[in-house]
Amino acid sequence: MSSPRFEPTTTAGISTRSVHSGAMPEAHTGSVVAPIFQTSTFMMDTPGQTRAGFDYARTGTPNRSDLEQALCELEGASFAAAVNSGTSAEVAVFSALLRPGDEVILPRDVYGGTFRLLQNEYVRWGVVIRTVDLTDAAALAAAINDNTAIVWVETPSNPGLDIIDIAEAARLAHSANALLAVDSTFATPVLQRPLELGADIVVHSTTKFINGHSDVIGGAVLAGDGTSCPRAAEVVDRLESHLASVGLGISPFDAWLTRRGIKTLPVRMKAHCANAQAVAEWLEARDEVAEVIYPGLPSHPGHEVAKRQMSGFGGVVSLRTDTEERALALVANTKLITLAESLGGVESLIDHPATMTHLSVAGSEVSVSGRFIRLSVGIEDVDDILADLAQALDATAAVEIADNHHSPSAARPLLIG
Ligand SMILES: *Cc1c(COP(=O)(O)O)cnc(C)c1O
Repeated sequence: MSSPRFEPTTTAGISTRSVHSGAMPEAHTGSVVAPIFQTSTFMMDTPGQTRAGFDYARTGTPNRSDLEQALCELEGASFAAAVNSGTSAEVAVFSALLRPGDEVILPRDVYGGTFRLLQNEYVRWGVVIRTVDLTDAAALAAAINDNTAIVWVETPSNPGLDIIDIAEAARLAHSANALLAVDSTFATPVLQRPLELGADIVVHSTTKFINGHSDVIGGAVLAGDGTSCPRAAEVVDRLESHLASVGLGISPFDAWLTRRGIKTLPVRMKAHCANAQAVAEWLEARDEVAEVIYPGLPSHPGHEVAKRQMSGFGGVVSLRTDTEERALALVANTKLITLAESLGGVESLIDHPATMTHLSVAGSEVSVSGRFIRLSVGIEDVDDILADLAQALDATAAVEIADNHHSPSAARPLLIG
């Protein structure tokens, strides 16, 4: 009855795994694409005896399992939990592994929501957070102490695109018996696999490139198998126990959409990387742009580390304009490129972090300058993206003269950098 079929393993290429891992034809009907199992509970034959290991949907569903298997095989992980947001993935890590008195070391450039989560929700339970420039290994070595429980690395970082040496951070964290967690959202497993570099935990906002179509909020937490992570068994045990108790799991439909998105992840990343490189190089030649930040540019301070630990530089380009007025005018004048939060979808999006994604950290040690813009470069034809940027930059010339007497900075607390 059964016909031979391809069994993906981590020895298959990453494009093959993206298409096939956790995406076997459905056993009952042979449907090539798994159906959405929209149920909260599963029949048992006798008490405790399930058909396929599923009993109640808080703890697991077939669509979630398919997605988790794919994520494991892409990342080279032995454990994956697909949860209902990237932030929930962070909650799982912090709640499962921290105790009062523990310290978390955070990079100076970090997703604003990560900082806010720790500051608002964990500090009152006795967790201490320290912000350190983790692009400087000596600064990390100096900050680590007996209370350090987790070193949290985000690379490339949101929105500053800092590059942190993962292998070096793992070495330093492990020397103090701390765990290294890497938020690898901007890279995806196609461009960077932190577990292979010694990280203990990987977190993704699958909302971004992994799903890739701006239609799902989701996240994932992954862990290794103990070969490079000395405390893997303990980490997985804590995560499993926490996740089963709390119920952060992604819904069947969102899991199904994300699994579908993953099928094209390698081809999308290739297109994102090529377009982002072209956009970065084009922006470097514009006078209105004071600084272009992209790990694929030789001018980026993390270029060499990125070349070593990534197989591509990602789809996000950040820039600083010469004035804050110009930054606000630029984001208001793009047409093809949509002004919106989020990133990593097939469509290009532009963000002014100081007033949008990173407003919650204004005035804090991780605040973002008002001259700063984050551009998520989509997979449209690059000439169309460049033409839109050209017309929007041209349009800022007039706005700047008109707004000469009005400084948006004056209305808000001064932002750093
Ligand atoms: C978006 C994002 C998150 C949070 O993910 P959500 O899915 O929005 O909860 C975490 N880290 C990074 C780097 C992000 O870009």
